[in-house]
Amino acid sequence: MTPQALTLAQNRLEVSWSDGSVVSLTAAALRRSCRCGDCRALAARREPVQVAPALAVLDARPVGAYGVQLEFSDGHDRGIYPWPYLRELGRAAAAEDYQPAGSVCTRCSASSSSMAA
Ligand SMILES: [Zn+2]
Repeated sequence: MTPQALTLAQNRLEVSWSDGSVVSLTAAALRRSCRCGDCRALAARREPVQVAPALAVLDARPVGAYGVQLEFSDGHDRGIYPWPYLRELGRAAAAEDYQPAGSVCTRCSASSSSMAA
């Protein structure tokens, strides 16, 4: 699977893939998932990565066919994200997005109760 396009939109990075799927990740999620030496050391000490509330991705530089190096607005620019890792993160983020779908559930229960009444 190869990426077709990278889009930086406010505090998100979107990756379009050759199969037509799009992965959309927030800067905060990407920053927390950074696997550079510094961040791995933090994780090994079980210290959470500090993420600024208005964190943005300033730049995304492709690293050959391997992945992309991201520069964050907090000055962190060491993280290189291999393409398969980005797809993995995208799937995890999508699963998280869909779980707290309170509005959908409310509508479901509302329609089912009106049908019962
Ligand atoms: Zn890092």
